[in-house]
Amino acid sequence: MSEKVYSRPGEAGCLVSFRPKYDNFIGNQWIAPVRGNYFDNVSPVDGKVFCQCARSTAEDVEVAMEHAYKGWQSWKKTSAQDRAKVLYQIAQVMDENREKLAVAEVWDNGKPIREALLEDIPDAATHFRYFAGAIATQEGFLSEINETLVAYHFHEPLGVVGLIIPWNYPILMASWKLAPAIAAGNCAILKPAEQTPASILVLMELLMEVIPPGVINVINGYGPEVGKPLALHPKVKKIAFTGETATGQEIMKYVADNIIPVTLELGGKSPNIFFEDIMDKDDGLLEKAIEGAMMFLLNQGEVCTCPSRALVQESILERFLERMQRVLNKIRHGDPLNTSTIIGAQVSLEQVQRIKKYIKIGKAEGAKCITISNCKNDSPYQQDPCIFLGNNHMRVFQEEIFGPVLCICTFQDEDDAIQMANDSSYGLAAGVWTRDNIRGYRVSRQLEAGRVWLNCYNEFPAHSAFGGYKKSGFGRECHKIALEHYQQIKNVIVNYKDQPLELF
Ligand code: NAD
Repeated sequence: MSEKVYSRPGEAGCLVSFRPKYDNFIGNQWIAPVRGNYFDNVSPVDGKVFCQCARSTAEDVEVAMEHAYKGWQSWKKTSAQDRAKVLYQIAQVMDENREKLAVAEVWDNGKPIREALLEDIPDAATHFRYFAGAIATQEGFLSEINETLVAYHFHEPLGVVGLIIPWNYPILMASWKLAPAIAAGNCAILKPAEQTPASILVLMELLMEVIPPGVINVINGYGPEVGKPLALHPKVKKIAFTGETATGQEIMKYVADNIIPVTLELGGKSPNIFFEDIMDKDDGLLEKAIEGAMMFLLNQGEVCTCPSRALVQESILERFLERMQRVLNKIRHGDPLNTSTIIGAQVSLEQVQRIKKYIKIGKAEGAKCITISNCKNDSPYQQDPCIFLGNNHMRVFQEEIFGPVLCICTFQDEDDAIQMANDSSYGLAAGVWTRDNIRGYRVSRQLEAGRVWLNCYNEFPAHSAFGGYKKSGFGRECHKIALEHYQQIKNVIVNYKDQPLELF
């Protein structure tokens, strides 16, 4: 990608102009929060407040529910083909506004624009396109029980669903949930994270003409003030949540009251396993494996699948570190709006503090810290990467840090690697790097993780089911099976025989 620096909001030539104050997006209108409160939204790129967003409460959930429920009365009657058309249009609007949405996402979140341009926004559009195809081709099914008895099965939507998302990929996480939810015939109330409430509203402004009123509603605010009443609302028919494991535990308790389904995409501490045979040749696979290890820097490490534990076979550790160092020396840390920047800004000062706290903990535990010389850190929102050498029992190897911190430990053989990889309360993802495909497959099948990447990492195709094992949650997103989480099956049994059973 050739170098380009995108203009900042407020500067001449900037593709995005944020409103100074954002109300909630409900029923395709901007509706002020009932209590009239707003919170400041800071950009991690310059550390300044750039807009205010609605600080919603239970009253606003009520307003959103009214509009969503009204919208659902028509949306549920649309054909799958008609809904698919709307999803295709959403994807097209996203594609046409890729750069604008990427700048909005960077300004709200701090991520490097190369990632937003190359991955986040195009992937988000792909999800709408994929689920348009999935719903248009979904078929009901029937069972021929006997000559006269037939069981029909219909896919029916649930109703109004609540979608609660984190701040690390605002538009992409929203799309992972919105696309299957509305494709299946539900209306959605989306609650973005309070750290990144604005980029989604830029998208909503673009979609006003495309989506029917009430199909997608966005209410902003803090988790306990608006996420909780959304999850507890008696009319909400499902909660899809992505965020921290501790919050996911609370969400499960809320939905128990109404006995509604919930899906949870939670935290991770993903192992990335490097077998010694990757060093047998100095070729593309070795380079790819080193790139796979460097994936801990993607989105500044603010990725649920961050490969934050590298398990390296002992015999190759020294050579492996030397190869990593060569790549690390080329990493550019800096302005998130420069397309050459690899590491942008962390989302908030709280997040920087959390990462620094863990770096201290790692050092106090005796993990050896490998220095990376070239990073220039000129903003309080930037955090230098940190690489630890230690053992899998240390806290920095067990707890999710959500920052550019890589913890490396060594293993002796395959069994040792599997045991160490599975020695974690999380089970979101894992990576395996080897030239031996049979070993790769064997190890993949033994890893306790919902997603295993073999000789690749952080690929997220829409057609691939994603979700966790263990404390990383349950339910799957992406892939057409995600539709099942947003539908219920109606079974109609018809007896075509014109005679009674003669039981009585
Ligand atoms: P978080 O749990 O703090 O917040 C997530 C969302 O929940 C936000 O919208 C927040 O406002 C809301 N919330 C907070 N408390 C709530 C409550 N009591 N009731 C209802 N809603 C509440 O998580 P975060 O800090 O925004 O995101 C980082 C976490 O998300 C990490 O743990 C990361 O691993 C996880 N994550 C997981 C996946 C995945 O697919 N498994 C993807 C991205 C992020």
